Amino acid sequence: MKIAMFGASGFVGSNLAHHLSRDTAHEVRLFDLEERKLALRFENAAYSFEPLSIADGNPRVDEIVAESDLVVDLAAHVHPAMFLNRPLDVVQLNLFDCLTVVRACVRHRKRLLHFSTSEVYGKAHGSAEPFREDHTDLVLGPVGKTRWIYSCAKQLLDRMIHAHGEEHGLDYTLVRPFNFVGPLMDKFSRDWSRDDNPRVFANFMSSLVYDRPLQLVDGGRSRRCFTYIDDAVSALRAIIDAPEAMNRQVVNIGNPANETSIRDLAELMVRHYRRLCPGAPVPAIVDVPSATFYGEGYEDCDRRLPDISKLRAIGWSPRFGLDETIHRSMAYFVHNHARLVASLGE
Ligand code: UDP
Repeated sequence: MKIAMFGASGFVGSNLAHHLSRDTAHEVRLFDLEERKLALRFENAAYSFEPLSIADGNPRVDEIVAESDLVVDLAAHVHPAMFLNRPLDVVQLNLFDCLTVVRACVRHRKRLLHFSTSEVYGKAHGSAEPFREDHTDLVLGPVGKTRWIYSCAKQLLDRMIHAHGEEHGLDYTLVRPFNFVGPLMDKFSRDWSRDDNPRVFANFMSSLVYDRPLQLVDGGRSRRCFTYIDDAVSALRAIIDAPEAMNRQVVNIGNPANETSIRDLAELMVRHYRRLCPGAPVPAIVDVPSATFYGEGYEDCDRRLPDISKLRAIGWSPRFGLDETIHRSMAYFVHNHARLVASLGE
């Protein structure tokens, strides 16, 4: 199969590309603005990369799609801090630029594996019910709560892809990732900045490595299911290998057994850090209001629990429990710190 991957140099793309490229049955072509994470993931192994922006209806997208059997679109802005600081850029890329890829798939009748997000489910309101792709309501806050602009843009594109399936016969799978963590996630930052802060795992990791407090937003009561990237990659592989069962489906990818509050995550990471770096200073865990941490437009999803029966039905189940997921992710960052900072910056 000829596979074209847009947004290939991010956290998920670089890990998935590395996995798929080891399979000689596939020819994998990777596209992104830059290739720094791919270079780290592949180390000196060969891979096919072309610098490319999908912005402004770039006609090169159409040519690439025409030459491919499967199109994987991972291009996205995904950091909650950015939803509040650059909301229009978030919509531009996540909705309008990605539409260029969708339309090319419709035009050339190519299968599309599109990355939606678990953010589309919105607020959970403390519900103990897992999010089910074909049943759960998508509940967002008011317009002034800019946190939801990403969710809303992604949701509209999900609905348009679904409509293209109905009206134009587009073959697609929409995948919804639930808090993947692992090697090459986000980046370290020595100084915390409201405008440029990464997702929670990378933020806590930076705090530990640079000895600054781990900040718990609104008491760290929210709950997430952290999913190890290798489990996520094997789920994606299972989806790619089951084109009929997964056709025109929305599919959650996550590990419901790995649910934790953010406070417990902070405590778990401190325990692992003491073991990984004995003798290193260990910073405090502090509470911070969300308005200070993110700004006034923030609202949280208090719980995000996936129903994964669709994946179980095609034989996938997650392998890595929470402790191992966090340990492996932290060990990678600790052991590769110097290399990561040199390649990705802080
Ligand atoms: N969070 C936190 N401290 C941080 C970063 C995030 O307490 O340094 C919280 C955030 O408010 C949310 C959860 O951790 O409740 C997960 O945030 P993340 O940015 O990883 O993404 P999300 O799961 O909300 O998309």
